[in-house]
This record gives sequence, structure tokens and C-alpha cells, in this order.
Amino acid sequence: MTMVVSTAPGAGPVLRFAPSPTGRLHLGHALSALVNLQFARRLGGRLLIRIEDTDLTRCRPEWTAAIIEDLAWLGIQSDGPILRQSEHFDVYREAAARLASLGLLYPCFATRQEIQAAAIPARLDPDGAPIYPGLHRGLGVEEIERRKAAGQPFALRLDMGRALATVSEMLGGSPLTYAEIDDALVATPVTVDPGRWGDVVIQRKETSASYHLAVVVDDARQGITHVVRGADLRAATDIHRLLQVVLGLDAPVYHHHRLIVDETGRKLAKRDGDTSLYSLRLRGLTASDVCRMVGMDVDNILRPFTCL
Ligand code: GLU
Repeated sequence: MTMVVSTAPGAGPVLRFAPSPTGRLHLGHALSALVNLQFARRLGGRLLIRIEDTDLTRCRPEWTAAIIEDLAWLGIQSDGPILRQSEHFDVYREAAARLASLGLLYPCFATRQEIQAAAIPARLDPDGAPIYPGLHRGLGVEEIERRKAAGQPFALRLDMGRALATVSEMLGGSPLTYAEIDDALVATPVTVDPGRWGDVVIQRKETSASYHLAVVVDDARQGITHVVRGADLRAATDIHRLLQVVLGLDAPVYHHHRLIVDETGRKLAKRDGDTSLYSLRLRGLTASDVCRMVGMDVDNILRPFTCL
């Protein structure tokens, strides 16, 4: 089944490019930013830059500045204020409290080593990581209080079984889906399977947020209508749809684009310094060269989308 998605009259399309400042941008990010720009211009919408820096152990302010500089060099500026997630922990804390009030979160005090030791190697999530073995899912109230009083740090995990039951009840048993749009804006409904991720972390030990929580909260409060991002995040959309439903948030439509891989077929990472936009710039390449390198037609990016 297919359908053509159009946005509500008056509420213009809003897109976002949302890098995490854990290093310099590379060609893979350039592709993602340019595909976002192309969709935004074709839709006559706005493209916002959002800095996803809730992981305080890996993100650095100097990388944020470098990312904004690299994007400007590429010809991309935010069509509105740049949201830095590290300035909004109170908002994510509030959303987590909502999930907790629905009985969907539980504290997990286990260390990484304890979780690794208990994990079943054959049970992997879509990213290839062992699924959380449920170690602290059934901790009693007294035990929780004792550990909290002793100052043990804890993460808040989603009770996936309960969350799925809640969603099923809310949807009256209908499947949970999202709309995936292609390059021609034709949408195909995709049925999600969030259960394959297990009890994901909603609030990390060190901060009052996690990627999954912050991304759905910000997509909603920034009025994002079209989420355009790499195919490596396709499976994560299952969790995002589930959180959107339980938090009562509007769902954007999604476009998961191709990835740039190295000669061994591996997705580019920030550690691949020779493909960083900065090093390409130092070597004298231009933004148009980068467009061509990632297979984008420079003239096409700014051309309005005619069938809207
Ligand atoms: N911050 C994520 C990343 O850099 C992208 C999140 C998203 O587009 O949803 O991989």
C-alpha cells in the first residue's frame, strides 16, 4: 500500500540535521546534511541544525563549533535557532518522569561489566549489541530504596513488555507503524517491532537523558515534520514511534537515506580522519567537490519539488 504525504496547510515543513559533537563531520554527515537540505528546499520548508550533545562523556563544545563551521562551509545554515540538547536536560527529565508515572521505567544499578556477564551472546539487538538481560527489572521497592540511599548510580530503563502492552491498548490492537517516504515523497507504511531492542536506556546514569528520549522530545517540540537521516538509524525508529505514542507526541514522516561506506563496506565513522570535511577543505577541495563525492547533484539540491 502507498500514499502520498503532504503537510498540513499553514504548518510548513520543518526538517533537522542533528549531529552529535563527538568529532569532526565526515563525508557521511555531508551526505545526510545535503539530503536534508534538498528535501527542505524541495518542500519549501525550513532546515534546523540541532546539536545532540547529551552524552557528556563523548561530546565536546569544540566539536560543536567545528561542526557549525564545517556546515557553513558546505553552505548549510540553520533556518532558526540552533538547539543544543545539553541546555535542556530539564525537558528530558520531565518526559522521563511522564514515562515513570505510567509505570514504564525502572532503575538499573548494574554496572556495564555485570550486564555483559549476564547477557546471552546470541540475543542481540539490531545494532548487534547484546540485549539487556533484565537483571534489575524485578528489584523490590526496599532494595531500590536501599541502593539509592547508599548513593549507587542508576540508569532508568524502559520496561519494554509493559510499554508494548500500553501501546497495544492505546491503539486498540492495531499495529504500530510509521510512514517512510521515498525521493518522490511517496510514503509506505512500515510496521515496527520495538521489542527487538529489549529494555533500552531512557535516562543514562550520568545524565537525565538518552538519545532515544531526547530525539523524540525535540522532534516534537521543534515541530519536525520530516525526519531525514541515515539508514543506520532505521531500526531505532521503532523505539521512537513507541515513545511518541506513549508520550502523546505527533509523529513525523521518515526518510532513511543510503550510507557512505569505505572500501571494506563499513559505514564511515568520525575516526576516519581522511574523510573529514575539515581535512578535505585543507586539501583545497570545494563544497561542490564534496557534493559530487557523495553523489549529490549540486544543481538539483536547490530545485523546488514540482509536484507539491
Ligand atoms: N545524533 C545522531 C547522530 O549523530 C543522529 C540522530 C538522528 O538523526 O535522529 O548519529
